Amino acid sequence: MRFTDEILIGGVWRRGGGELIETRDPATGEVITAIHGADLDDVHQAVESGRRAAAEPGWRDLLPHERARLLVRIAGLIDERAEKLATLQTTDTGKSVNETRALVASAAGTFRYFAAALETLEGARTPPRGQYLSMSVHEPIGVVGAITPWNSPIASDAQKIAPALAAGNAVVLKPAEWTPLVSLALGRLITEAGLPAGLLSVLPGPGRTIGDAVVRHPLVGKVTFTGGTVTGRAIGAAAAEKIMPVSLELGGKSPTIVFPDADLDLTVAGILYGIFSSSGQSCIAGSRVFIHADHYDEVLDRLVRHTEKLRIGPGGDPATQVAPLVTHAHRDRVAAMVDRAREEGARVLCGGRPPEGPEYAAGAYYLPTILDGLSNGSATCQEEIFGPVLVALPFADEEDLVQQANDSVYGLACGIWTRDYRTAWRVARRIEAGTVWINTYKQFSISTPFGGWKQSGTGTEKGREGILAYARQKSLYWGMGEEPLPWAGV
Ligand code: NAD
Repeated sequence: MRFTDEILIGGVWRRGGGELIETRDPATGEVITAIHGADLDDVHQAVESGRRAAAEPGWRDLLPHERARLLVRIAGLIDERAEKLATLQTTDTGKSVNETRALVASAAGTFRYFAAALETLEGARTPPRGQYLSMSVHEPIGVVGAITPWNSPIASDAQKIAPALAAGNAVVLKPAEWTPLVSLALGRLITEAGLPAGLLSVLPGPGRTIGDAVVRHPLVGKVTFTGGTVTGRAIGAAAAEKIMPVSLELGGKSPTIVFPDADLDLTVAGILYGIFSSSGQSCIAGSRVFIHADHYDEVLDRLVRHTEKLRIGPGGDPATQVAPLVTHAHRDRVAAMVDRAREEGARVLCGGRPPEGPEYAAGAYYLPTILDGLSNGSATCQEEIFGPVLVALPFADEEDLVQQANDSVYGLACGIWTRDYRTAWRVARRIEAGTVWINTYKQFSISTPFGGWKQSGTGTEKGREGILAYARQKSLYWGMGEEPLPWAGV
């Protein structure tokens, strides 16, 4: 694949004024390409152009069905280039090609969904209490800053760009520094689909300078962020200074609960998929599994046996189940967290090290790992590892289980495995999380809102309401009385 040293700044593809960013293939450690990221002037230019482009009558007054047509065109181009985009994302992030194909399809689906949602978006005529007609309508915000992480770039980018454009805004996208390539490819494709110049900028660069400048820019009216909780807190604080709306999709340490009556084939398959797909680099990874004491050993034994059979390999091989982590540095961080778990007294039931063999030597591989022997209060059970590491914990009593499952600063997701719908209902309603899966895990529909509780975030994405997160509500009153208002006595 050929790459150019160009980024999208205010409608113009050109070399960024910032640092050189080297991206590497995590399966081989080889440099894919190096591009110059954005500098602060580029941020300013992108935001200014976005503001002007969003105010142009050609965009501002575009009828909903015409804007929808553009989004559908973008979806069509994503579908046409699906294989190329999936391969690019696999090379850039290391993810298995089966997963990146699904992410590309979901990105196209997101543009199509918000095209349809945009056509059904309605204001409301509200009941009057006087001689007037009252209405509630929605207006674009102007320039939206979108900041995304490296784990599923095309899907995260689409989840922000599609509803923001659908609502009539301009978008300045700041992708993660480790994985800018697929975001730039998406930018090319959106330009080609005919989005008027200036409405989208794609600015790779370091978060602490370029991301921060996007957040603090006075003309950026909303920031939508997906990433870690520490970064989310800093962005939330900067947004508070500007009194700017912000939506934060942050980290997780999601519990999965196995009751004694669970269907174990479904359960084992669901738990392994929930933690080890994407090599655990997923905000919703089910990283703590609570297993009822009555069948703790049996379930754990099955989990370990199946984990040892998972196929480790490069993301480009469709047979691969567990691909390398995104970078060697991140792999070393995961390894350090497993070492700390050992110091905390964990038993390592499988994994706990990189795989051996010459085919793995150059890649950022780490074996899928299962630990037990820790309490829920341990650092290993409280902190997000963002790697292929599962901690098993036994429970005997439902009350204690709910308390432990909720004993986390996070509240992103949960899985419940039981054949008894009453148990599932009771526990699902008590779990502090934005999404609960019952007898399944990590399933998603663009029509279903997604968001975190507690320190997993604020605001929701997806669903028809997802567009409204990028709009400002306005009330209109139309005087209908034939007489002057009585107060002035006119
Ligand atoms: P990160 O927070 O380090 O970075 C995310 C993005 O923020 C990157 O583009 C980065 O450059 C930028 N950034 C960093 N510091 C910034 C600052 N001060 N101001 C503005 N931007 C800044 O996260 P990551 O390591 O890229 O991604 C992994 C994290 O993302 C995990 O915690 C994971 O749980 C979370 N995540 C959450 C969801 C969700 O929907 N809840 C989805 C995927 C990933």
